[in-house]
Amino acid sequence: MKSTLKTAIAIHKASTSKIDKVDFDNLAFGSTFTDHMLVCDYKNGAWESPTIVPYGPLSLDPSAKIFHYGQSIFEGMKAYKDNNNDIFLFRPSDNHKRLNISASRMSMPEFPEEYFLEGLKALLKLEEKWIPQTDGSAMYIRPFMFASGEGFHASPADAYKFLICLAPSGAYFSGKVKVRIEETYSRSANGGVGFAKTGGNYAGQFHPTQLAKQKGYSQVIWTDDNTHENIEEAGAMNIFIRIGDTLVTAPTSDRILDGITRRSVLKIAETEGIKTEIRNITVTEVVEAAKKGTLKEMFGAGTAAVISPIATFGFRESDYDLPELENSYATMLKKRITDIQYNRTEDNFGWRVKL
Ligand SMILES: *Cc1c(COP(=O)(O)O)cnc(C)c1O
Repeated sequence: MKSTLKTAIAIHKASTSKIDKVDFDNLAFGSTFTDHMLVCDYKNGAWESPTIVPYGPLSLDPSAKIFHYGQSIFEGMKAYKDNNNDIFLFRPSDNHKRLNISASRMSMPEFPEEYFLEGLKALLKLEEKWIPQTDGSAMYIRPFMFASGEGFHASPADAYKFLICLAPSGAYFSGKVKVRIEETYSRSANGGVGFAKTGGNYAGQFHPTQLAKQKGYSQVIWTDDNTHENIEEAGAMNIFIRIGDTLVTAPTSDRILDGITRRSVLKIAETEGIKTEIRNITVTEVVEAAKKGTLKEMFGAGTAAVISPIATFGFRESDYDLPELENSYATMLKKRITDIQYNRTEDNFGWRVKL
């Protein structure tokens, strides 16, 4: 990536590093943080210059609008290190575009692309040693923005903070995922904010997910809020369903998040000659297919796990097991995507960006 910023990003270095205290062979997901973070303030109608500072707590006024009205958005992406210690990002401009789509929906200011990409690049260069190299591990990147502006009046804030924090993370093993098709609660609604990566969407999922967990499931399959008949997402992932040899996923809408992994899966499936359909998929159709034996696979798609295969789904009082396939689409697609991400293969799509 070539620098387009007029001035270099100022770096205030941490006096000591925590890196020697980290057990890189046993990294959990998103719970170890590097020495530095990128911070950028929005004040008086403009973004100030981003700076890199030691990682640590923030100080905010109790009336900051994030606490009261939840103006907050985020992104999730990863940096990968190959065997030559070269570092790569995967479709980073797509994350930047989506951040601004979320910002616009939440009445927050858009963040400039060069600040996003150059800021991320400078932070990753500084924290290069923190990027794990063992198979399946990566640097999880969390860009986020929230309302720091003050006052109890319910209106958009006049000040915001944008940050990027880095969390070296181990391979994400979800195990045998047992999910429950949800018919009472909804993740999102027509005209709502389901397509935005905004905090409240996730807060609203915790309670129904907790209830599903009490019944022995690990995740919820979201259905549409109106009829609860159309299958929409799997937890905080997009969903794919294989019936026969056709791979089906729901169309994106204002209720469904436009995942970058989802788009990548569709593109790779297409180039592999797999028939894909982007259409409404009903609970009835999936239950019927399960009974007939034509339901072959269900999986979630998202940055954290890439592909998360579902072993069992529950609907009302019944559980339905999916077959264990030798040549699953899930395994093939995950390999194709991660081979591109980790620079193990040619990237014919222009997705991989070398730092
Ligand atoms: C982030 C997210 C996804 C997956 O998006 P990716 O860009 O593939 O990581 C899917 N659904 C929801 C609700 C999400 O928050």
